[in-house]
Amino acid sequence: MSATDRTSQRVAELIDRLSRLTRELQYVDGLNPAQWEALRFISRANRYSRTPSALAEFLGTTKGTTSQTLIALENRGFIRRVRDTNDRRVINLELTDQATDLLCGDPVLKIENMVDQLGPETGATLVRGLSRLLRDMQREVGAKEFGMCELCCQFQCSETDARGQGVQHCGLTGERMSESDLNRICVNFKSTEAKVS
Ligand code: SF4
Repeated sequence: MSATDRTSQRVAELIDRLSRLTRELQYVDGLNPAQWEALRFISRANRYSRTPSALAEFLGTTKGTTSQTLIALENRGFIRRVRDTNDRRVINLELTDQATDLLCGDPVLKIENMVDQLGPETGATLVRGLSRLLRDMQREVGAKEFGMCELCCQFQCSETDARGQGVQHCGLTGERMSESDLNRICVNFKSTEAKVS
């Protein structure tokens, strides 16, 4: 086995081991990993993505399984379903204050603290490598990528407003995107090879 093969094997083993430990961490406060992931998703998703179907795509599960997750969270008072004001057929998911408080003690924050200890250079290298791996895996299995406007090929920033500041739009919907929208993950995200490599 070559040195490159050994490195690849080791990385695959480490990712597998880390993902198991990360799952184990999330059996706390009476929730399971899928329920924690759903709460995290709703807190970070943009206005097009806080729906049960987008959540099912993000979790990589069926709509039925996602529905069970949502019912459990609703019964605990962590989420509510709200009809969209522009399209009454669409149901949006919202976190309650109780869920926002709960997320302050998200068990995954332990991993964030450990990554902080590795230093900024190692952190940036990990982000680059793991992002590329995630994208390749998603393409391999045909899963949606999810991501933020900055790296989306449909993002447009071509006009300036009265104060001479750039005006950002989603090229897919034509809607203006605020600064806070830019930091949220989107179900319609499409990366460009040039921007993510
Ligand atoms: S620009 Fe891309 S990521 Fe941003 S809202 Fe539009 S589709 Fe979503």
